Amino acid sequence: MANPLYDTLFGIHAGSSRPFLHLPDGTTLSHSDFLRRAARMAHALTACGLGPGDRLAAQVEKSPEALALYAACAQAGVVFLPLNTGYTPAELDYFVTNSGARLLVCDPAAEPGLAPVAAAAGARLETLDAHGGGTLAEIARAMPADFATVPRAGGDLAAFLYTSGTTGRSKGAMLTQDNLLSNARTLAAHWRFGPEDVLVHALPIFHTHGLFVATNVMLASGGAMIFLPKFDLDAILDALPRATAMMGVPTFYTRLLGDARFTRDRVASMRLFISGSAPLLAETHRDFEARTGHRILERYGMTETNMNTSNPYDGERRAGTVGLPLPGVELKITDPETGRGLPAGEVGMIEVRGPNVFKGYWQMPDKTAAELRADGFFITGDLGMVDAEGYVTIVGRGKDLIISGGYNIYPKEVELLLDDQPGVLESAVIGVPHPDFGETVLAVLVPRPGETPDIAAIEAAVAEEMARFKHPRRYEILPELPRNTMGKVQKALLRERYRDIFA
Ligand code: ATP
Ligand code: MG
Repeated sequence: MANPLYDTLFGIHAGSSRPFLHLPDGTTLSHSDFLRRAARMAHALTACGLGPGDRLAAQVEKSPEALALYAACAQAGVVFLPLNTGYTPAELDYFVTNSGARLLVCDPAAEPGLAPVAAAAGARLETLDAHGGGTLAEIARAMPADFATVPRAGGDLAAFLYTSGTTGRSKGAMLTQDNLLSNARTLAAHWRFGPEDVLVHALPIFHTHGLFVATNVMLASGGAMIFLPKFDLDAILDALPRATAMMGVPTFYTRLLGDARFTRDRVASMRLFISGSAPLLAETHRDFEARTGHRILERYGMTETNMNTSNPYDGERRAGTVGLPLPGVELKITDPETGRGLPAGEVGMIEVRGPNVFKGYWQMPDKTAAELRADGFFITGDLGMVDAEGYVTIVGRGKDLIISGGYNIYPKEVELLLDDQPGVLESAVIGVPHPDFGETVLAVLVPRPGETPDIAAIEAAVAEEMARFKHPRRYEILPELPRNTMGKVQKALLRERYRDIFA
C-alpha cells in the first residue's frame, strides 16, 4: 500500500546521507537523520491517539522539529494544520475549534494561555520547542526510529492551510496529497531544482510559500536548505555565498537592496531568486538586476491553489507580471458579474483550474460553492489580465476595487503613477465611504527617507495623466504601510483607519 505524499517527498530519501537542513548553529541534518526524527514523531502522534484523517493543529516556532511534525503527519496519515506563530490564544481558539483538531501542539511557553483553548475545543495539548524540548518531543524520544507508513490515497486530505486573512477572516483550505504533489513536481521541474541546489529558506513554514512551495520543492528535488528561523539581513548575507537559490517575499528583496553589502560578488554562486506572495514593484526588479545581474523570477499563487503562474526560467522574465500559467494549470479571465470569458488585454476575474486546486473550504459549503465552480474553475478573487503572449498581470484584489459614483477604479493603476512621483517610496490607494459618491479614492503615501512629497505637484501630475474620477480626493502620509508577515499590505486596516475621513 502506498502513501503518495510521504513516499514521493520523504520516503525516497530513506537512507540518504546527503544534507537536508543546514542550521544556524553550524550543524547539518541529513535526509536520513531527518526521517528518523519524523518517524519517532509519527509514533508519538499515534501514541497521542491520532489516526488517519485526524487533524493536528500546530503553532510552533520554525525549526527542524516543526518540519519533522509535518513529515510525521504525512507518514501517519494525519491532516497537518500549521498556524501563524503570531496568533494570540483568542485567535487560535477559532482555528482549533473550527478545524476540529484532535491535538494542538504549541510552544511550551504558550501552554498556560492555550490550555483553556484546547480544553474548550476538546483537543489534547502537547508542547514542542525549537530545540527538541517539550512533551511531544519527550514522547517521541522514546520511540523507534522507523514507522510503518500509513497507506493513503492521492485524493486524501494532507493539510488544512488557513488563508492569510488579508480580505476577511481566514478560511481553512482543504488540500489533498495530489494537490501538493502535483505542484511540487511541476515547480521543481519548472525552476530546474536538483540535488545540488541549496536554498536560502527564511520564510515562515506556517504559510504555503515557505511550507509547500519552498520545502516541498526541495524535498521533491533532493536539494538542501539553509534553514533560517526568520528573515535576518546579516544571516541571509552570510548564507548567500553558500547557496544557489532563494525564495522570498518582495520585502526580502527591497531589504537586501537597502544594504551595501549585497553585491554581485556575494551572489556569485546563486542561480535563481524567486518572489511571490505580494506584488514585486517593477522598480525593485530593475534595481535588483542592476545590482546583481539577476532577474528576479516572480510567480503567483495562493493558499487554495498552491502556485498558478510563473515567469519562465529560460524565457523572458517580465517585470510587473507574474508570468504564464504553469504546465497543467488552466487560467482564464472572466467578467466578474457574468462569469463570461474575456479577451486578451481586458481586466477581469482570474479563474484557475488544475490538479493544484483545493477541494473546498472546511465547513463552508456556501463559500465553497460560490468560489469553486462545478466545472472545477476556482474564482481566485484577484483581478488581472492576460496579454497576447499569455503573460498574466495582477491588477489587484476584487475586494480592493473602488467603485466611485458608478465608476470602477483599479487601485494598482493609481498606485503605479504615485510610486513614480518624486519623494514617494510607495503608496496604497483605497476606497473610503463618501456621502456623495458612495466611495471615493484615498491615497496613502510613504515618503522616501528624508524626503517630503509635494502633494500639490503630485495632484498636478495625476490630473495630467488620469481621468478625474480616478483622482485621489485626499492624500495621507504614513512612515510605512501596514504589512503582515508575508509582506502583504493590509488594506483592510487602512480602510478601517480612514473610514470616517469624509463622514
Ligand atoms: P485571504 O484569502 O484570507 O484574504 P490572502 O489571499 O492574502 O488572504 P494567501 O492565500 O496567503 O491569503 O495569499 C494569496 C494572495 O496573495 C493571492 O490571491 C494574491 O492576491 C496575492 N499574491 C500572491 N502572489 C502574488 C504576486 N506575485 N503578485 C501579486 N499578488 C500576489
Ligand atoms: Mg485569498
